[in-house]
Amino acid sequence: MTATLNEIRDQVCALHSELLRWGLVAWTAGNVSARVPGENLMVIKPSGVSYEDLTPASMIVTDLDGNLVEGDLSPSSDTAAHAYVYRAMPEVGGVVHTHSPYATAWAAVGEPIPCAITAMADEFGAEIPVGPFALIGNDDIGKGIVATLSGHRSPAVLMRSHGVFTIGKTAKAAVKAAVMCEDVARTLHLARQLGPVRPLPQPDIDALHARYQNVYGQQKGTP
Ligand SMILES: [Zn+2]
Repeated sequence: MTATLNEIRDQVCALHSELLRWGLVAWTAGNVSARVPGENLMVIKPSGVSYEDLTPASMIVTDLDGNLVEGDLSPSSDTAAHAYVYRAMPEVGGVVHTHSPYATAWAAVGEPIPCAITAMADEFGAEIPVGPFALIGNDDIGKGIVATLSGHRSPAVLMRSHGVFTIGKTAKAAVKAAVMCEDVARTLHLARQLGPVRPLPQPDIDALHARYQNVYGQQKGTP
């Protein structure tokens, strides 16, 4: 069943409170968007509105070139980056952007987060890569996200000196990736205070990732 536009407005609004709940955003920074299935449209946060004041009705609908379609406010200033990702990656149904502090600290030094713990192999299947530095205002951020994540297992990229962008089949999956990215960024930061961090061997990363992506969780039809 295809979600209606109103259902997607509800979902995108509710997912913004997850960014707050998990401590990924300050003030009005950060945004979630979702593709409208079967349409050349996406739903995204309005620009500069407090998280407490967001409502499903205040969510903005744009086309996949970032042009306003429905909404009384301006769309997020990151709309062009989200729109570029949807145009270039048809499998992506949700995009999230945050400046969550631990992950953004790695972005500030321009260093990928090494895949050194099993939870990270499960979820990301690789290091979390660094994308290029890009100024806001054109397609450069979107191009950097797509160039870094195309063909990469990680659904998260650390855009150099900026912050985190994540992608997912759904907006909820992209939010989960943003939460897990911050979690592993913090853990690996703490680990480095204790001593050198050694990445897991690639065969172990591959085995963990395959198991988690294919057999972990509640399987339909199993007791
Ligand atoms: Zn930003």
